[in-house]
Amino acid sequence: LDTPAYKGTVSINTGLFINGQWLKSVEPEKLECCPDMVYTATGRIITSVEGGCSKDIDIAVDVAEKAYKTSWGLKVPGSTRGQMLLNLANLIEKNADEFAALEALNCGKPFSKAQREIAGCIEEFKYYAGWADKIHGKTIETTENKMAYTRHEPYGVVAAIIPWNVAMTMLSWKLAPALAAGNTIILKPSELTPLSALKFASLVNEAGIPPGVINIVNGTGSAVGEAMAYHPRIRKLAFTGSTLTGRKIQEASAKSNLKAITLELGGKSPNIIFDDANLEQTIKWASLGIFANMGQACCAGSRIFVQEGIYDEFIKGFAATAHHLQQNTGDPFSGKTLHGPQISSVQFDRIMGYINSGKTDGAHVLSGGERDGNEGYFIKPTIFTEVKPSMKIAQEEIFGPVGVVMKFKTEEEVIEMANNTTYGLACGIFTENVSRAIRVAHALDAGTAWINTYFTIETMVPFGGYKQSGTGREQGEYALENYTQVKAVHINI
Ligand code: NAD
Repeated sequence: LDTPAYKGTVSINTGLFINGQWLKSVEPEKLECCPDMVYTATGRIITSVEGGCSKDIDIAVDVAEKAYKTSWGLKVPGSTRGQMLLNLANLIEKNADEFAALEALNCGKPFSKAQREIAGCIEEFKYYAGWADKIHGKTIETTENKMAYTRHEPYGVVAAIIPWNVAMTMLSWKLAPALAAGNTIILKPSELTPLSALKFASLVNEAGIPPGVINIVNGTGSAVGEAMAYHPRIRKLAFTGSTLTGRKIQEASAKSNLKAITLELGGKSPNIIFDDANLEQTIKWASLGIFANMGQACCAGSRIFVQEGIYDEFIKGFAATAHHLQQNTGDPFSGKTLHGPQISSVQFDRIMGYINSGKTDGAHVLSGGERDGNEGYFIKPTIFTEVKPSMKIAQEEIFGPVGVVMKFKTEEEVIEMANNTTYGLACGIFTENVSRAIRVAHALDAGTAWINTYFTIETMVPFGGYKQSGTGREQGEYALENYTQVKAVHINI
């Protein structure tokens, strides 16, 4: 590539990474196993990669099981596992710009934003490298001649299924804690964005990770994802994606081996702006909240509730940020681009469908509301006002650059409106009144509350959803609970 943002090569192996080797699918004749990769800024195909099928998952489970029993888990000291995670962090760092270029190519996000994502991913591996030798149970004194202790044991073979919007972030959020806790893993990237995961796989052997500990099997949800969800010897599955797919995964687990499931699902997060908020800061955060990553964020602040006293000033400034992004929309590699294309033609059509439904339902288009240009999947940053809570655009996750603004009068009223959703991932609260900020944060059904900020994600702070936004927590010490099971050992002295 010779672009203003990135000059250099990108190289990946397009196979399935199983047992430290690059393999072809054992059922290559299946059409759905070979997805084409599209550069979303132009809609043109850039490469094709191997996609797996259920028999490939059987092979991956066999090797991951063997690796768990012989060369990982409690067979090696935690400090050794930690060192290997550090090696991975260092190798990603060494190749950081190539990773960012692959993300920009595969997902269409501006190169500079992809660079920031890779930096977070490196942090993640470093953080859990530190945990690998600090996972332990407790001693519990019961009576004079009895005692018990607990062990935090790994599951063995775990699986991870991730989405396309922040592919490397999701990869690191799953792999780093699972490996630190001593599990071996099979990870399926989204069939839309496997390129960075394939690059990552090419570093695994160099990091000294024994064969079979990390297996990366690309493929579709129906060919590979389902096989993982139903597999009787996978003990634990961590999933990030839509609520619809999360439901299917729970069903598959219920019908197979009742594997432990962690779900990080969709959202329709409220962002609440009170009259006394710092207007300039609030506009900046609200804009980031809905338009970051082209609105393709699970915790996007997509329902923006604005108190009546600040409403006019807020929407004026908010619309200006949308126009600014629109003026800086374009090629992810231009070096100046702030807003890129959507992930695929399917998502593009879906988002345009929501925009049209907002118009038909009578909401007012304050900015955007249409495609941008004729090539690729660009949509103008869109803001709807005069939105009623019952409208489809106010209820459903759009997963695109579409914010809906609603006016409110009182704190009680906005809490009720904000909680009127099946989701509960995150919320934003903007006010200079600290008591109100905390009161509202506690009253909202959300796994994360941001006060006078938005999208602050920290490696050491848990992240996850209430209600139909998921179960379980990623990040921080909490994520280790996802990947360990507690055994109680009783002793009669
Ligand atoms: P998706 O549910 O369509 O796909 C996610 C993954 O599941 C992909 O790898 C896909 O191949 C796989 N899959 C699809 N059907 C499957 C099946 N039947 N069995 C097993 N696996 C299957 O979601 P997406 O479109 O890739 O991502 C967007 C969604 O992800 C949004 O709803 C977003 O909110 C959510 N998301 C949530 C978080 C979070 O942390 N809560 C983070 C990022 C994205």
